[in-house]
Amino acid sequence: MSSDCPFCGIVAGEIPGRIVGENDHAVAFLDANPMAPGHTLVVPRNHRERLADATSEETQAVFSLVHGLAPAVEAAVDADGATVGVNDGSVAGQEVPHTHAHVIPRFAGDGGGSIHVAAGSRPELSDAKLDEIASEIGGASNDE
Ligand code: AMP
Ligand code: ZN
Repeated sequence: MSSDCPFCGIVAGEIPGRIVGENDHAVAFLDANPMAPGHTLVVPRNHRERLADATSEETQAVFSLVHGLAPAVEAAVDADGATVGVNDGSVAGQEVPHTHAHVIPRFAGDGGGSIHVAAGSRPELSDAKLDEIASEIGGASNDE
């Protein structure tokens, strides 16, 4: 636990949170400043800054809750779909340094965009460059 982390505080019950689901390694609660009604965050119980800092077991627990909650969140607010994602690192917009998955209900005509807008414009990449990147990723995965 990190003493100045709001999400550790919610997991420990020391900071108020609207808990909507939990399992052995993860907890889900409503976002306090939601982008849409039902906006939910899912965090590992342990303080892990980035997604890759969490163990495989913790990551599975987080995404198991996401999987179960996404339809429940949509149904609760009568949404038409959801955007699910992680702002992984400050450059990607992560503000709270305790990794968390967002489940953001989406509504027809809500004015939002797809997850593609998060990264700016598309780069031009040759087939050779794509092959090189695929090979680099395949050799560096830390999957357990
Ligand atoms: P991110 O930019 O991905 O780090 O998102 C952090 C999210 O945490 C934002 O959507 C905030 O509204 C939300 N948030 C910050 N503090 C709290 C809190 N104490 N309880 C619930 N949600 C919070
Ligand atoms: Zn924390």
